[in-house]
Amino acid sequence: MEIKINATAQPKEKPADESKLGFGRIFCDHMLLIDYDRAKGWHNARIEPYAPIELDPAAACLHYGQMIFEGLKAYHGNDEGIYLFRAVENFKRLNNSARRVCMPELDANLGMEALKKLILLDREWIPKARGTSLYIRPTMIAIEPFLGVQAANKYLFYIIIGPVGSYYSEGLSPVKIYVEDKYVRAVPGGTGEAKTGGNYAASLLPAKEAKEKGFAQVLWLDGCEKMYVEEVGTMNMFFVIDGEVITAPLTGSVLSGITRDSVIRIVRDWGLKMEERLLSIGEVVAAASNGNLKEAFGTGTAAVISPVGQITYKDKDYVIASGKMGELSQKLYDEIVAIQYAEKPDPYGWVEKIG
Ligand SMILES: *Cc1c(COP(=O)(O)O)cnc(C)c1O
Repeated sequence: MEIKINATAQPKEKPADESKLGFGRIFCDHMLLIDYDRAKGWHNARIEPYAPIELDPAAACLHYGQMIFEGLKAYHGNDEGIYLFRAVENFKRLNNSARRVCMPELDANLGMEALKKLILLDREWIPKARGTSLYIRPTMIAIEPFLGVQAANKYLFYIIIGPVGSYYSEGLSPVKIYVEDKYVRAVPGGTGEAKTGGNYAASLLPAKEAKEKGFAQVLWLDGCEKMYVEEVGTMNMFFVIDGEVITAPLTGSVLSGITRDSVIRIVRDWGLKMEERLLSIGEVVAAASNGNLKEAFGTGTAAVISPVGQITYKDKDYVIASGKMGELSQKLYDEIVAIQYAEKPDPYGWVEKIG
């Protein structure tokens, strides 16, 4: 499919200070769009100036939540090259999400080609400081104007991109998390393993209540028994107990994080014991009490590794790793970031130089 380019005649001013980029508020000059309807399939791939899109107020995505998204980054390497990290995995996961909410799949090769074209057109926007990057948000929405609870016949896929700051501009300080025992995020058979908007809307109230109590994030327990640890906020969760690195298995209610998968691979390569298994909150707090819980950290594209310094469960606080960043957390962070910025050889074939 040909991807038409309609470059902007009025480029925006780029942010001058890379230390003040923040996250998710600045967007580049261009966006990529592809239309879909049942008769034609995907068609009319085009890059246009970044601008509001017109939607009928009856558009299906605005009523019954038929929408999915992805999140990934492009990095400015040491050698002035531009790198993507495991981007094809994001397109595969987009299609897994699409199937769950009855949306059409998009050919991953087309997605990759379109993404590269868009990034290279706006390459001057990619910040250079270590830790900064270009955030990429592929999105698919149902746009058919029709008020009925059924899969739409028309969709729009688009990608927007924008420079983001270092997640750790204030340093890698461990966060306090609240073990959520009232609300749940996902249940087996539900939509927890899809990156679909409704999951995140449902998480806002628990997150707000936790924030009011002084916590950065909530740790979700499984939705049936509220017994097994699953994820934290928009990150997968890892615990280091008795020399074993443990993360929740992909049982259907856990999002299959690409950072999660990378961490599992690296931990195994380092010869450590890595288990994907059910881990009860009882086991976690018992290990925290008797000193066997050495580290806990979240994993996700935004932060890479986010150390947890304290968890609070049923009004009891448990300090982890003396509230500091653990040794393994730091080592994993350094390793993954060095691969992403092409500062060291990539033994996994995870990074792709695109320009
Ligand atoms: C996106 C996401 C993650 C992390 O996935 P990555 O591919 O590592 O960025 C984890 N949990 C949830 C709920 C998410 O939405």
